[in-house]
Amino acid sequence: MEHHIVVIGGGFAGLNIVQGLKNAPCKITIIDKTNSHVFQPLLYQVATASLNESSISKPIREIFKNQQNVDVQMGCIVQVDQEAKRIIFHDGRDLTYDTLILAIGASHSYFGNPHFEAFAPGLKTLEDANRIRERLLLAFERAEKSTTPSELMEHMVFVVIGAGPTGVELAGSIAELKNVTLKKNFRHIDPKKARVILVEGFSEVLPPYPESLRKRAHQDLLDLGVEIWTNTKVTNIVAHGVETEKGFIKAEAIIWAAGNEASKVLKTLHTELDRQGRAIVTPHLHLPGDPNVFVVGDAAHFKGKNELPLPGIAPVAIQMGSYLAKYLKKRLKGQKDIPPFKYFDKGMMATIGSFRAVAVSGKLKLQGFVAWIAWLLIHLLYLVSFRNRLIVLIDWILHYLSGRSRPNRVIIKPVEELDKET
Ligand SMILES: Cc1cc2nc3c(=O)[nH]c(=O)nc-3n(C[C@H](O)[C@H](O)[C@H](O)COP(=O)(O)OP(=O)(O)OC[C@H]3O[C@@H](n4cnc5c(N)ncnc54)[C@H](O)[C@@H]3O)c2cc1C
Repeated sequence: MEHHIVVIGGGFAGLNIVQGLKNAPCKITIIDKTNSHVFQPLLYQVATASLNESSISKPIREIFKNQQNVDVQMGCIVQVDQEAKRIIFHDGRDLTYDTLILAIGASHSYFGNPHFEAFAPGLKTLEDANRIRERLLLAFERAEKSTTPSELMEHMVFVVIGAGPTGVELAGSIAELKNVTLKKNFRHIDPKKARVILVEGFSEVLPPYPESLRKRAHQDLLDLGVEIWTNTKVTNIVAHGVETEKGFIKAEAIIWAAGNEASKVLKTLHTELDRQGRAIVTPHLHLPGDPNVFVVGDAAHFKGKNELPLPGIAPVAIQMGSYLAKYLKKRLKGQKDIPPFKYFDKGMMATIGSFRAVAVSGKLKLQGFVAWIAWLLIHLLYLVSFRNRLIVLIDWILHYLSGRSRPNRVIIKPVEELDKET
């Protein structure tokens, strides 16, 4: 019987594995709980109305329509039964495997406060991005209808919690939305007066970046009018408000960009997990006690330099996926002594509104416009298809030519439904 490889997750890691196994003598099933691959690094642009969701995603079926050894299934895996070599779906179905690859990414961590989620959505999926966009735009609509100055100001406060790359990018983009995009759209409010507050527990924004870039990012955010509350721990989140060590912030929209947690599915494996719930893998990316189960991307704890786990970023997931495809091809041929996975660190980057970014790659540090151009090019390059690259490029060109008008400012739900929800 043909060897059956099951890949769970159609993110960066899963996609690269399956594409790399194109001509391999095996049957592949790729399963994802959504029907599309999503380019997460640009989710913040969907959340802030710059891009449309279809520009940064592609149906997994479409991606593999010409790869004959691939079967695509939409389904959510809830359990792995290693003894029986089978996985179990949310609806009770099961599927057996010879080799299993868990490329299931990560979700938000609310650090033991799950009730925060209802008031402070995180940004991981297209659904999250749409929800955040709706809340941001709705806040301005509500402010426009306010009858008192205090009510008005309550609607015009946005809080982003966590000043890592996602938090910084979101805060910068929301600042531009209010400062530039919405400038002439309202008759009773001045959107520029809205407050964007970035809350961070550490002493600086972008904690893992070199000091000069952290300082530059901080200044760029201030220039955009973002209020930065560093050294500030969030103690509670309630409807329309954030309690911090430095006081309560009444806010219309609160966005969580503070932490990651691995999927609960990993808890069903017989293996050691780290504090974030990631599976600790061997140098060949499989579980220490099971050479037929691999964990890759954000779900994996792979020890890199100084025994520290590799970060949850796209290049790690992509390189793990490409490595594993080559590894499995060799193993299918019966080859032994396959070299272990090695990560090539290409660096990291974050953008702060338009025309500004920070980037670090080895000893090279870039900031400002040059870094922003590098950021644009790299993001275009990694988008999943030529169509998406072209659409995003055209959207970006139109965005800048049209005074950053952000045409995707759609609130799908009618107002009476939204008023009931929040
Ligand atoms: C907002 C945001 C911005 C980011 N910006 C950057 C950036 O600028 N640069 C960078 O390098 N990295 C960035 N990252 C991180 C990067 O996107 C991730 O490291 C990368 O996506 C990890 O790839 P993955 O394949 O491990 O997981 P993912 O890409 O998350 O894919 C996991 C897939 O598994 C599916 N799945 C999950 N659970 C199940 C289940 N139980 N059953 C079936 N399917 C399941 C999901 O639907 C998803 O499609 C960002 C992440 C986010 C959220």
